Amino acid sequence: MIERPTITIGRKGKVVLMGAGPGDPELITLKAVRHLNLADVILTDRLVNDTIIQSHAPQAVVIPVGKQCRKNKSTPQLTINELMVFHAHSGRYVVRLKGGDVSVFSNIADELETLVQHEIPYEIVPGITAALGAAASLGVPLTSRGLSKGIRLLTFYNDAAIATGEWENLAATEDTLVFYMSGETSLELAERLISFGKSPDTPIILAEQATTPLEVVTLTTLKDCLTEWKGRTFLSPALLIIGKVAALHNKYSWKQHLSHAPEYFPEVIQSAARPTSSKSQVPVQIHF
Ligand code: SAH
Repeated sequence: MIERPTITIGRKGKVVLMGAGPGDPELITLKAVRHLNLADVILTDRLVNDTIIQSHAPQAVVIPVGKQCRKNKSTPQLTINELMVFHAHSGRYVVRLKGGDVSVFSNIADELETLVQHEIPYEIVPGITAALGAAASLGVPLTSRGLSKGIRLLTFYNDAAIATGEWENLAATEDTLVFYMSGETSLELAERLISFGKSPDTPIILAEQATTPLEVVTLTTLKDCLTEWKGRTFLSPALLIIGKVAALHNKYSWKQHLSHAPEYFPEVIQSAARPTSSKSQVPVQIHF
């Protein structure tokens, strides 16, 4: 349990859970910018462009609470929850800033549960999710008539992420499949889909660092990626778009795309410290 500071600073704190968009700092909503202008504290994910915070919230104390798959410096969810509660109970305007949209592959439910339990007022502001940012940036109409009837947002970061009975359905559907957090498992994914009957000629795009100036795009087929991507390292973040519409990238691509690039988003290097209640009523590691 976190001790609540007794200090009052003249207003009640609140938390705004917001999406910052997929990377391009212009892909953020006006509403999100308004909240950034008001923020005292920003708890930010790794995949949030730093320019966004520098431009719209120079006044705020920024606490990176990034997580990164397979990196042990990731900030535990419990610490993030505690930081939100601590700063809101200290009367601060807290922005919890997430890459893309807040409700797509994010722990928003966990954070909402914490806010409800502690009776902290909150708002939710959506953002452009990576699938939609990448589709625009690559020139891929995700539900192009005659090619796809829908979009499925999925992940295959481990075996349990797709239920055993689902594979046949994924192999058979004409829907566009967008896989988050699945760069490193892409070969296994392609093999699995082929083995369940998906055409080996189905187009697949790997979009790395989509919407940023260092966007890397590779278009191939399920069959060919098995050889072309073997031994390849993937830049994080990476997204897969699978289905007939992916081939439209060749026709509608409207900007220069790189085939190799350095990392755009810095790695998570340190886990955020848990808040501590001291006599001065502010966490020792943060100076307001
Ligand atoms: N809430 C985010 C998703 C968080 S999960 C959203 O709505 O976009 C993190 C995953 O999102 C990454 O592993 C990657 O698959 C995807 N992603 C986020 N930003 C991306 C980008 N700029 N380019 C490619 N994939 C991205």
